[in-house]
Amino acid sequence: MEYKPTIGLEIHIELKTNSKMFCSCKNDPDEKRANFNICPICTAQPGTLPVPNKEAVRKTIKTGLALNCQIPETSKFDRKNYFYPDLPKGYQISQYDKPFCKEGYLEINNKKVRITRVHLEEDTGRLIHEKESSLVDFNRAGIPLMEMVTEPDLTSAKEARKFAEELQLILRYLNVSDADMEKGQMRVEVNISLSKNKTLGTKVEIKNLNSFRSVEKSIDYEVERQTEILDKGKKVVQETRGWNDIKSITVSQREKEEAHDYRYFPEPDLPTIHLDKEFINGVKVEIPELPQQRRERMAQEYKIDEKTVEIFTSNKDLGEYFEKVMSELRDWLEEAGYQSLIKLAVNYITTDFWSLFGKASIAELENKITPENFAELIKMIYKGEISSKIAKQILPEMLKGADPSHIIEEKGLTQLTDSGEIEKIIKEVISKNPKAVGDYKKGKEAALQFLTGQVMSATRGRAQPDIVQKILKKELGSL
Ligand SMILES: [Zn+2]
Repeated sequence: MEYKPTIGLEIHIELKTNSKMFCSCKNDPDEKRANFNICPICTAQPGTLPVPNKEAVRKTIKTGLALNCQIPETSKFDRKNYFYPDLPKGYQISQYDKPFCKEGYLEINNKKVRITRVHLEEDTGRLIHEKESSLVDFNRAGIPLMEMVTEPDLTSAKEARKFAEELQLILRYLNVSDADMEKGQMRVEVNISLSKNKTLGTKVEIKNLNSFRSVEKSIDYEVERQTEILDKGKKVVQETRGWNDIKSITVSQREKEEAHDYRYFPEPDLPTIHLDKEFINGVKVEIPELPQQRRERMAQEYKIDEKTVEIFTSNKDLGEYFEKVMSELRDWLEEAGYQSLIKLAVNYITTDFWSLFGKASIAELENKITPENFAELIKMIYKGEISSKIAKQILPEMLKGADPSHIIEEKGLTQLTDSGEIEKIIKEVISKNPKAVGDYKKGKEAALQFLTGQVMSATRGRAQPDIVQKILKKELGSL
């Protein structure tokens, strides 16, 4: 019988606010100048007092509500005492027994993963180690940091990854954090133990996980490592391990003989916080449609497949762009056949439009290619006024801000529907390519493809290939 992993997560999230948690210094994660955004409060000068950031409190509660948490009427801040060079106060203001949010859950793959708590604290500074010295940058010290703790309800590496991915999406939908893992705005710690029965095994903690991939791989690695130890009849050591991304292994950082004693006590410089129903309801109404709601609505409203729904959910802006285009097309839909038009729009938005996105954000793209102009392009393709080849030529031109009908007019790109004109071009191509004509007569099918290609290029893609081929066959047959 195999060992069953029991996994819980602790996730730290830097909140997106204008100022820091307890002072008015700018919260700018991109500031490159060391110790630029600091003041006497966030560097813990004697006699200074903290003032809580209301926006950070709102964002924490908003997250808690989105994660189905209870919001107690009273909360408080506590001091978590420990010494570290990047912690100027010698303690961190955090929340111990009265967090802002508790007892929630997040549903992934139809399974409820319970959330123990979501609380608010402040981030530490950053140490920069050089050859013979270590430097400290306090720009990050005091940035609002939210911590979310789950119950050990996860049972596989894939599930843990999925949970972290869904959480990131929710944080972005709520606009509480950019939650960029590479930038350290979302930091995941894994607790994992292995057992064959209901008694939990010894817990190992994995730190330094800064990508979804490392969350998944480190768990897989630990399952293998711990299985090997247990199979030999040995005991797993309770410890904190770090993830080495290059070697794809976890390494022991420190053994935990007993729980840390942080000597928590209520922060004397901050009063108990009372949250009335009005405030909480005010936050509640600000919660937008969340990823799972969007998936369900989009699948129902547009009848698009699961893969496309996921593209439009995980790329929120792209999904919104699609919906704007569809709303432009809506009046037109009844008569034109809803589904085929949706299919066409999905196809162009997830391929050609999206590839333009490589160079710009959707917002920048949207300024140039307005949903209205994009809808016009889709209509033209649908009505057969332009071929898909022409559409692909027009899109990059539309980036300059012009609408498709102007580009088509200006460049003379309208579809060639006049069969007389096509016939004329075909006759020219036939007379210029006697060898291919001879090959075709000998029964070589490839020669027909070649001649079709010649006609298409002579029309600059303005003719429809099947019509060209039909006329071409007729002309060749009469020779
Ligand atoms: Zn400050």
